[in-house]
Amino acid sequence: MTKDYQNHTDLYQAYQAVGISRQVYEYGEAVCASLEERFAVIDKVAEYNQLKVLSALQKNKVSDIHFAASSGYGYNDQGRDTLEQVYADIFQTQAALVRPQITCGTHALAIALSSNLLPGDELLSISGKPYDTLEEVIGIRPSLCSLKEYGVSYAQVDLLPDGEFDLEGIAKAIHAKTKMVAIQRSKGYQTRPTLSVEKIGRAIAYVKSINPRIICMVDNCYGEFVECIEPSDVGADMVVGSLIKNPGGGLAPVGGYIAGSAACIERAASRLSAPGLGKEVGATLGIMQSFYQGLFLAPTVTAGALKGAIFAANIYEKLGFSVIPNSTESRHDIIQAVEFGKPELVIAFCKGIQAAAPVDSFVEPEPWDMPGYDAKVIMAAGAFVQGSSIELSADGPMKPPYAVYFQGGLTWYHAKTGILRSLQQMINEGLVDRAIF
Ligand SMILES: *Cc1c(COP(=O)(O)O)cnc(C)c1O
Repeated sequence: MTKDYQNHTDLYQAYQAVGISRQVYEYGEAVCASLEERFAVIDKVAEYNQLKVLSALQKNKVSDIHFAASSGYGYNDQGRDTLEQVYADIFQTQAALVRPQITCGTHALAIALSSNLLPGDELLSISGKPYDTLEEVIGIRPSLCSLKEYGVSYAQVDLLPDGEFDLEGIAKAIHAKTKMVAIQRSKGYQTRPTLSVEKIGRAIAYVKSINPRIICMVDNCYGEFVECIEPSDVGADMVVGSLIKNPGGGLAPVGGYIAGSAACIERAASRLSAPGLGKEVGATLGIMQSFYQGLFLAPTVTAGALKGAIFAANIYEKLGFSVIPNSTESRHDIIQAVEFGKPELVIAFCKGIQAAAPVDSFVEPEPWDMPGYDAKVIMAAGAFVQGSSIELSADGPMKPPYAVYFQGGLTWYHAKTGILRSLQQMINEGLVDRAIF
């Protein structure tokens, strides 16, 4: 039996059953063979983070009573309160807010911002343009209830062309009204380099050297568990993210988190529920086990997604496309961008990812006007949790440079299959010349 499983002909037959040709399969095997050393490093990071999560669960004496459902107001929900302490321990912060009532990453960020900024304050982004959906939260694009409507102003310092923080620009932009500095760890829908936690730490130290009272908030979406340290380990006052990305481990069906100083979290909780109620309310309705179990799996799931991203970079770079990060660069989030330059290629890529999904593999994705985005976006997402982007997924705004953003994969094998299937789709549609690989 062992022999049969190790026999590559059989493995190829399994790939053939999901629509992958021998040529694409063999190309994938050659790329995989070149990545063994990098994958070994990723496994070590996952091992470290697994122990970090495990010790936080043990320290907080997590037990099955913590998985019990609360209802109504959700007073004294021990599962919820303990999970928040587990997050605080993992992120090494004084407190955390981890709730199913936080509907998504944008919501978590909106809470963190709107609770800690008051009329007359200024928010300064030092990593350039923020994630698309935050434009409306901030009021860069006019929107109901934006920070701008409430009298919070916004300023921005772009990263330098080489991806470094513009320290001179930051020093010039900070003034008496600057209350909070925002840093986005992941590139989002941009083709800039990703920011390492260490680099984020240096920028925070610089901001604090100008004014130690400025609150430094990091949009940590897609970055959790990619490195052994988190932005809160290097001085961030708040780190914010979505549970249907890395820290939910694919099992959390909804939710977001904010981890940070007790003062920031208390304000965030008062904004999420109501002044005076804060963290005390919020029933969890039986969802807690998935939050704990997903967090436990998150380091391994993130590692699988990271391997998928590196595999994709290597597959497409060798075919002549520009990939960000490139095939050899170090990684600080799980997103892989591939610049295709042509809408047909973006669409074919997404069709291939969709065709490789465990759910809705028979559906053909099309570009559509998504709320919160300024151009049509095509998305491939055949996920168990709607919109989950720790599961194998891809999206591309239909505007130049026609880049596709690929992320996730609950297992490395599935991420690999998705990438091979995306290439197969392009070949099937005659968009990539068979002769070039
Ligand atoms: C996904 C993401 C968000 C927003 O999260 P949603 O859950 O989609 O609302 C914000 N910032 C970054 C960098 C992201 O990747």
